[in-house]
Amino acid sequence: ATPMALMVGVGRGSQLGILIKSQQALESSGRIDTVVLDKTGTLTTGEMSVHRMAVFDVAAGADPAGPQTPEQLTALAAAAEADSEHPTARAIIGFAEQNGLRAPLAEEFGALPGRGVRAVVQGAEVLVGSAALLAERGVPRPPSALDDATGTLVFLAVDGVARAVYALQDSLRKGAGEAVGMLHGLGLHTVLLSGDRQRAADDVAAQLGMKQAIGGVLPTEKAKVLADLQAAGRRIAMVGDGINDAAALATANLGMAMVSGTDVAMKSADIILIRPDLRVVADAIVLSRRTLRTIR
Ligand code: ADP
Ligand code: MG
Repeated sequence: ATPMALMVGVGRGSQLGILIKSQQALESSGRIDTVVLDKTGTLTTGEMSVHRMAVFDVAAGADPAGPQTPEQLTALAAAAEADSEHPTARAIIGFAEQNGLRAPLAEEFGALPGRGVRAVVQGAEVLVGSAALLAERGVPRPPSALDDATGTLVFLAVDGVARAVYALQDSLRKGAGEAVGMLHGLGLHTVLLSGDRQRAADDVAAQLGMKQAIGGVLPTEKAKVLADLQAAGRRIAMVGDGINDAAALATANLGMAMVSGTDVAMKSADIILIRPDLRVVADAIVLSRRTLRTIR
């Protein structure tokens, strides 16, 4: 590769809102055949909100002196989420605020990445997170009115008893459908990757015309999923927001972090930064293919 041709490529990239951090990153993107896209915060805006809540009927198991009403339960969930930056946490806290609820102060906090949070609030152990989190902690999950809901479900358990469930909605990022269409038009295979449950992953993939969705993947396993695809011969570009996917971005042949992402994602030299418009992903691949052609 001649440095001159690459410089032209890098210069053109900045006009498109792409910051290419290394020449190697630009060169490798020309040979990509698969684009893996994170769901929450990448294909979707990540601005989640609660649209339904259901309370489990657990009169027999629950402490009669403890929280009982939907309002008391939501205040407890918001208290446990107060320290979390996750989009689901912001949705729960927002829901409590909209209902004029005052969340008590938690005494202890712990994030369980890709699953939820654990906190101690008013002496009670509070878990807020996915169905997988409850299963992992041996908390039984009774049926609820939200069992058939699509999208993300967040459960609240207090002292080992499931008490409530929230259905969250997220919106597709503007231009996401068009961006996926552009990638398919370039002959690229697309894969949706998410820590959210398979059903929520499938739902978003279907809306975008993507044929493959891999859900229920823990943050620590995301890089492994990419390594497996690479072992099967795929050359991968990964697009993420840097939340729980920094290792996967670094594992990909080309990592693309949307500029609203975290610092962690931006530190690796081979990750290129793009503005939060998914159409830029296809632009970056076209640009690098062209640059490679100029070089050869
Ligand atoms: P994604 O891959 O879609 O960006 P994550 O790996 O960050 O998702 O999270 C996976 C799942 O873990 C979420 O869909 C949610 O069910 C649960 N989760 C993660 N963090 C929290 C939290 N702070 N509160 C409740 N649930 C959470
Ligand atoms: Mg994410």
